[in-house]
Amino acid sequence: MAGPSISADSSRSNLARTLRPEIYTDPKSHPGSGDWKWQIKNRITSFEEIRKLIRLTPEEKEGFKKSKGRLAMAITPYFFSLIDRVDPNCPIRKQAIPRIEELTVSKEEMVDPCGEDSHSPVPGLVHRYPDRVLLMVTDSCAMYCRYCTRNRLVGVEEPPMSIERFEEAFKYIRSKRSVRDVLISGGDPLMLKTEHLEYYVKRLRSISHVDIIRIGTRVPVTLPMRVDHELAAMLKRYHPMFVSIHFSHPREITPEVKRACAMLADSGIPLGSQTVLLKGINDRPAIMKKLMLELLKIRVRPYYLYQCDLAVGTAHFRTPVSVGINIIEKLGGHTTGYAVPTFVIDAPGGGGKIPVGPAHTIVHEKGKVVLRNYEGKVFEYIEPS
Ligand SMILES: *Cc1c(COP(=O)(O)O)cnc(C)c1O
Ligand code: SF4
Repeated sequence: MAGPSISADSSRSNLARTLRPEIYTDPKSHPGSGDWKWQIKNRITSFEEIRKLIRLTPEEKEGFKKSKGRLAMAITPYFFSLIDRVDPNCPIRKQAIPRIEELTVSKEEMVDPCGEDSHSPVPGLVHRYPDRVLLMVTDSCAMYCRYCTRNRLVGVEEPPMSIERFEEAFKYIRSKRSVRDVLISGGDPLMLKTEHLEYYVKRLRSISHVDIIRIGTRVPVTLPMRVDHELAAMLKRYHPMFVSIHFSHPREITPEVKRACAMLADSGIPLGSQTVLLKGINDRPAIMKKLMLELLKIRVRPYYLYQCDLAVGTAHFRTPVSVGINIIEKLGGHTTGYAVPTFVIDAPGGGGKIPVGPAHTIVHEKGKVVLRNYEGKVFEYIEPS
């Protein structure tokens, strides 16, 4: 595979802080770069490629050497171009480049932290809640997040999951009349060709008790050019469709991402966000608030903020739970309610998502609730006797 031909040389002293725009934004200087298939073909996947583009830290170099066989690295040229190459703590960089800490396994960590495998009645399907299921249609993603909760599954890429593999899943959904909501996830469903994705969506739509279809994706952030007219027009044919987009940091909201989200929103698709709380990346209330407010501006409604799961090798990304609670405390009431996601812990072992917001009910006793508002002022509500 030919890596992106970038003139930048890491030995130059005046390193450009990011590779924008030379890495892809000008289609004239880089034909094909606005094409999502080009982006996938030219992903940065090896030590040899990445060391030409960035001066790696010792922790990153070691991470590469020792992480063979663990979660694959793949970074689209587009996403790579957001990295501040001078700052080793760049939030984009930390999500994408392996580090030696990934090799540390702590005793509370689990291969399948949310107990998905044990709630999988047929291959590719997780059925945890009464009325909705999760369908994992691929194990590929445009970029592999180092903190991925499904790092046991993703990034294998070969062989791609065959369509036949899902016959049992369709049969299962058809037989369970209580399932009214199917969440298509992965990996990343938007890695599939539009016609391939359409096959799944169409099959689901043909099941009369499936009311809504959702897609969980990070592609609009890591490969925004994937969101094209063909995709938007296809999704629009199968309404009600919802799309949840995984965002981590305000720096991910670029003109390209704005375009992608606008195209989906203009197709009538309600957009939600999902964010994993990550140490040193988005664990400051000001950063999170900025992200949430910027999301509203591109018509993405913050949905979930996740406590980082106990996936193997992710301890360096995890914060205490109080960090997330404090973030929600600093948002709720202080800003637009739409900007406040629900902070959840996906219960280890398979209990599902459990909300852990700050407590606003101080006392709830016979006929009376004592409440605390966002300013810390106390109020009483008297219930009907
Ligand atoms: C997150 C999740 C869902 C969807 O949950 P919502 O709270 O409805 O968004 C469904 N199934 C599984 C297994 C999940 O992890
Ligand atoms: S996009 Fe999602 S599934 Fe893919 S690596 Fe990132 S967190 Fe994991």
